[in-house]
Amino acid sequence: MKRTFAQAAAAFLGLFLLMGPSVEAQAKTSFLTIGTGGITGVYYPTGGAIANMVNSKKDQYGIRATVEATGGSVFNINAVVAGDLEFGIAQSDRQFQAYNGLAEWQEKGAQKDLRAVFSIYPELVTLVAAVDANIQTIADLKGKRVNLGDPGSGNRQNAIDALETAGLNYEKDLKAESVKASEAPALLQDEKIDAFFYTVGHPNGAIKEATAGARKVRFIKITAVDNLLNKSSYYAKSYIPVNNYPTADNKENVDTFGVQATLITSAKVSDDVVYAVTKEVFDNFENFKKLHPAYAVLTKESMLQGLSAPLHPGAIKYYKEAGLMK
Ligand code: GLU
Repeated sequence: MKRTFAQAAAAFLGLFLLMGPSVEAQAKTSFLTIGTGGITGVYYPTGGAIANMVNSKKDQYGIRATVEATGGSVFNINAVVAGDLEFGIAQSDRQFQAYNGLAEWQEKGAQKDLRAVFSIYPELVTLVAAVDANIQTIADLKGKRVNLGDPGSGNRQNAIDALETAGLNYEKDLKAESVKASEAPALLQDEKIDAFFYTVGHPNGAIKEATAGARKVRFIKITAVDNLLNKSSYYAKSYIPVNNYPTADNKENVDTFGVQATLITSAKVSDDVVYAVTKEVFDNFENFKKLHPAYAVLTKESMLQGLSAPLHPGAIKYYKEAGLMK
């Protein structure tokens, strides 16, 4: 009995000694994960850029950041609010809807723990169609096989709204698909679908893939948006610069509407962690801007616009220190 106790005590001590330093190191390191999107979108490299900046100061902050490829905005918002992810990238319209209990959050209610950190870059509602499917206008999608996006994506609701501008109901008027945006380009090239919607920054890998195949494709403009914009303050008119995609069938830029990509977190994430993430991106702003062509239009001031959930106090602390906020 005694021996067993002594053995157990020794084993415990051994285990303690063995685990001691790593337990201590763990206590010093905060792990955080940023939810992004499909790997051919812009959320994924954006999450990677933010994580790299924070990780380069690991000794200073004790933060280890990683990214996760996800279905997109809706998934990220839900995972951040549930505490499964510390940060996520999400469309500004979805941030607004989640915080106010609209759209997907109508039944679940307002997500009051959602917090904004900063806006990043514009994302455009992008409609890509096969030339051989004879789609010239959005109304021509009637009866066609069209991918709207997976249920975790932000773009799905934008697609539904865009279809309504042409009087089309996605359930009745077309064969709507719900696959991930990252899979849509291959489906279009394989003639499994005729068109797809993707709300995304430009240029991006998914649209390059869609425009580079043997099946010729074109962007379709979405212009009858005045009513939609009047009732939805988060939407703004914009256009797709087609010089990014020289093999697409378009010669001129394509009018459409768009939103902002934003970084979100939860009220439950500590001020220190949110402060560190904000500081690293803003203190290295010029380097950050060079990391993706979609960031070319960014200014520090624009990164504080288009936010519809309250700012996290950790972000506010940095903005005040940096004189970006009073
Ligand atoms: N806007 C898309 C969404 O929320 C994701 C775009 C991207 O991954 O770049 O689902």
